[in-house]
Amino acid sequence: MPKITVGTVAVMLFGPPGSGKGTVAQYLTGCFDVPHISTGHILREQIALADGLGREVKELMDSGKLVADELVNRIVVDRLSRPDCAAGAILDGYPRTVEQAKFISEVLKQRALDSMVIYLDVDYDVVVSRLTARRSCPQCGAVYNLRSKPPKVDSRCDLDGTPLITRDDDREDVIRQRLDNYETQTQPLVDYFREQATWYYRVNGNDGSSEQIAERACALIRNSNP
Ligand code: AMP
Repeated sequence: MPKITVGTVAVMLFGPPGSGKGTVAQYLTGCFDVPHISTGHILREQIALADGLGREVKELMDSGKLVADELVNRIVVDRLSRPDCAAGAILDGYPRTVEQAKFISEVLKQRALDSMVIYLDVDYDVVVSRLTARRSCPQCGAVYNLRSKPPKVDSRCDLDGTPLITRDDDREDVIRQRLDNYETQTQPLVDYFREQATWYYRVNGNDGSSEQIAERACALIRNSNP
């Protein structure tokens, strides 16, 4: 698909865990040629450093809790400051609280970046079924699903051959905790953005392949012409 220009826009993707944010974000990165910023991925890199902060983050993540607003806000601002984000970025899994949303809206305004919000709406029973079948590559972050997108060779990443893992936070008890936290901390963003965002779209993430869902999101952005 030819790359298209969206101007200077930050696309914020949110939705429950397992709603397909990562897959949609990767697809949008390909469509619009701006970087994909996943706070979950950056936090897992911090965990891999195994320093004090990494251990703290791991404990929160493994118990299905959100990391402090202050830390993720800093991570995102640092990443957005790099030159490759001058024309915008796809923010995957950020913001996740109303506080984060207020913070980033100001930052984007100061940087003359328009913002566009995509809410991936997926039923919780679909989420639980997806997450329990999810496997990830610890090396490159590629994501598989044992039912809908299995790796070509048993339990190994198609891209680099690394043995796939189940994320610690994809265990069923942790998934339930993440969904509870989503409900109280992230779901309020629906009302917040519906009122505040110039471009706010709800995408039905229940039906169709991940590519079809991503294409729906892509078409909405392309047609909003900021
Ligand atoms: P994800 O890979 O997006 O599912 O994120 C995995 C975990 O990282 C989440 O369950 C949180 O513990 C943490 N995390 C990622 N993004 C954020 C955020 N914007 N705010 C707080 N915690 C986050």
